[in-house]
Amino acid sequence: MQRLSEATTQNDRPAVALAGLCYDGQSSFMPGAAGAPDRIREAYYSDSTNQCCENGLDLADVDWFFDAGNRRPDPGGEWLAQIEGFASELLSRGMRTIFLGGDHSISYPLVRAHADSYPDLTILHLDAHADLYDTFAGSRYSNACPFARIMEENLARKLMQAGIRTLTPHQREQAARWDVEICEMRDRRGFKPPQSEEPLYLSLDLDVIDPAFAPGVSHPEPGGYTTREVLDIIQAIKAPIIGADIVEYNPLKDPTGITALVAVKLLKEIAAKMIEV
Ligand code: MN
Ligand code: MN
Repeated sequence: MQRLSEATTQNDRPAVALAGLCYDGQSSFMPGAAGAPDRIREAYYSDSTNQCCENGLDLADVDWFFDAGNRRPDPGGEWLAQIEGFASELLSRGMRTIFLGGDHSISYPLVRAHADSYPDLTILHLDAHADLYDTFAGSRYSNACPFARIMEENLARKLMQAGIRTLTPHQREQAARWDVEICEMRDRRGFKPPQSEEPLYLSLDLDVIDPAFAPGVSHPEPGGYTTREVLDIIQAIKAPIIGADIVEYNPLKDPTGITALVAVKLLKEIAAKMIEV
């Protein structure tokens, strides 16, 4: 992976960037996710594995995968504008970016930037939680609220959610209000990953995976997908993924580093998918 600032080559494939957002200022339960991007990068470069995707592509060998570095948004200040500005900058360079969170609040400003370039956006949101609260613990920008802000502002033509297993009556009302297509975890066998020409943004909260496989998250919720099932969903997507985030990894809950490796596995398969269509 080359540093984006040193990028000299471009070809006709979409270029993919990896970018970290060291931010947990809206984490409603515990801090720690701000340390995620560095730990995920460490796991990516670890000699314990390689950089090959399951379709045979070796990310270590390609000249279209760039590291755009990390940003540390100011929790007490203009964090929303800073995150949106960073995403817009990468979009203006023609990048499809995988953003590493950070808590899930970062998805609202990220989707805002992407909606500017892609007005017909579909979002696939994989999470144990619907994150549709109007407000949570006094904040409208909490990690429990990003998809309420996104739908309120009409930033997506369609929002699909899968893996959900914590819906409250309030969140069911919010989902009905915006016609959110929710496939709850108990109905997972009927879930069909997006098949469309329309641009797709993928927002992946690691707690969609069962804590038996990915314990290093701030809000573990038993009864989730296996790592393999989420990889299967990603590989079954037939739509151009124009941006993605992987959020809520909390290194403080991951002493063995296994959840960082799960994040790496997912990011490799998302990167492979991003250039496929
Ligand atoms: Mn979430
Ligand atoms: Mn969650």
